[in-house]
Amino acid sequence: MSRAGIVTLAGKPNAGKSTLLNRIIGEKLSIVSPKPQSTRDRIVGILTRGDVQMILLDTPGLLNPRYALQRAMRETALAALRDADVIVHLVDGAERDPPPLADVAHLAEPPRAPVLLAVNKSDALEAAERQRLAALHPEAAFISATTGSGVEELLERVGTLLPESPFLYPEDEISTQSVRFFAAELVRETALEQLEDEVPYSVACEIEEFRESRSPLYIRAVLHVERESQKRILIGEGGRRIRDIGREARRKLEAFLGAPVYLDLWVKVLPNWRRTTSALHRFGYHLPEGQSS
Ligand code: GDP
Ligand code: MG
Repeated sequence: MSRAGIVTLAGKPNAGKSTLLNRIIGEKLSIVSPKPQSTRDRIVGILTRGDVQMILLDTPGLLNPRYALQRAMRETALAALRDADVIVHLVDGAERDPPPLADVAHLAEPPRAPVLLAVNKSDALEAAERQRLAALHPEAAFISATTGSGVEELLERVGTLLPESPFLYPEDEISTQSVRFFAAELVRETALEQLEDEVPYSVACEIEEFRESRSPLYIRAVLHVERESQKRILIGEGGRRIRDIGREARRKLEAFLGAPVYLDLWVKVLPNWRRTTSALHRFGYHLPEGQSS
């Protein structure tokens, strides 16, 4: 009998969840950034190997919500924990004494699903520190999402914990998210890489047009920011920064889509979109029921 179920990657921002998901699926599915809070939605990757199928959820940082966007992110992360058959709790190896997931996530009660602790970034861990952590958490898996070390063993363990079930998706499917969604994430990721400080969290990307019938593929993307001053920063002197972002984003889109791309990239101001329910819905963020900004 085959096994199948939902595997949720949880942990603090920057623990390496998106990097691990990308490593597991082998495609650049989830946005990776050295800046925390970059995963805004629940990203689904699917891994089918032998008689095991894992539906992988990446979670946005489990933050203390301050405004509507963060409330939406936390709600998404909590739903991913509730739906999980197995939870992988990823911690940064640099943490001296990683707290239990229920504390990190401020959960009222421990999650229903079994939680596997995985200490990530073990490539950067000194032998003595690794031993100390291993003594503290004998059940922990030591992995490196960037080198791949320990990841196979972790997946083996996850597989044995999944319920017996027929496959839930076709075997060759790697994701249920639309190509448009990933295109938007890649453009947003590229903008984040080239920006500092305040602006990144004010950037949303919307794909206004995606025409596959043409060669090159035609993609019109809009980067929405909250203020005129942010728009000026994003465009840069003489339009230099937005040109750099566009060039790099096009390169990533071509690698992801495997075809030449014409990227038509715009910057627009949508005042206070992070606090505006209608804008959050428009960009695909889900708010907890009964709440608005
Ligand atoms: P997330 O917020 O949990 O999704 O974390 P990300 O996947 O975006 O990674 C945060 C940062 O940690 C990025 O700069 C990654 O390159 C880095 N990182 C992730 N995994 C590893 C690892 O195994 N080793 C090292 N040295 N760095 C890593
Ligand atoms: Mg992430």
